Amino acid sequence: MIKVEHLTKKFGKNEVLCNISTVIAKGEVVSIIGPSGSGKSTFLRCINMLETPTSGKIVIDNQDLTDSKTPVNKMRQRIGMVFQHFHLFPHLTVIENLTYAPMKAKGVNKQVAVEKARELLKRVGLSEKETAFPNSLSGGQKQRVAIARALAMEPELMLFDEPTSALDPEMVKEVLDVMKDLAKSGMTMVVVTHEMGFAREVADRILFLDHGVLLEEGKPAEFFSNPKTARAKDFLDKIL
Ligand code: ADP
Ligand code: MG
Repeated sequence: MIKVEHLTKKFGKNEVLCNISTVIAKGEVVSIIGPSGSGKSTFLRCINMLETPTSGKIVIDNQDLTDSKTPVNKMRQRIGMVFQHFHLFPHLTVIENLTYAPMKAKGVNKQVAVEKARELLKRVGLSEKETAFPNSLSGGQKQRVAIARALAMEPELMLFDEPTSALDPEMVKEVLDVMKDLAKSGMTMVVVTHEMGFAREVADRILFLDHGVLLEEGKPAEFFSNPKTARAKDFLDKIL
């Protein structure tokens, strides 16, 4: 579904992603792990063109997003993104957060958007919060709303950038459970996370980034029990 070909990203002289190539299949769950500053967020942001690659290609269903002829906004509607700090619209209620983009960007009529939103709120366990404003919710609830909001656009691919890093420990599980359900439903997911339990249990594949280099790529069982590089061993020793 997604081909990343020789992706390089520089900020000035700082090469943040160095010649990364990988293929992500439909329905695959890929976890990206690596030290802070290794380029994980930049990698996600390049996949949906929030950052423009310096060179290389991002190909989704045979359309190269780096090609100036590709309608990037249309393509981006097919990609949901969930951030560490939720980024909900503070002045909109929960259900308005979910219906806004489908109505505005896709022209979905209100009744259909609301029905879909209710279905999604049920799915993330927040039906009773329909008319609440984001600032009245806990972190875990906010993040579940953010996931539901991304799903309201019916994306084919979901990107998660450390979705549980800003949460109090007791709220991590409720968000990971929603993500696990989503993985089970067959969603294609790329997840930057420090939750090694999630990566080990849910991911089909691990990408280990270090200084912008894709140092290791493999099945979780292999990666966690037998990392090939000293850098990955060292990283795992520090966090496990
Ligand atoms: P990670 O998510 O793995 O912590 P990032 O992708 O956020 O890493 O950052 C990788 C490197 O790119 C860091 O050195 C960071 O300072 C740099 N960087 C990220 N975004 C920008 C930007 N907009 N401008 C300049 N440098 C950036
Ligand atoms: Mg990051």
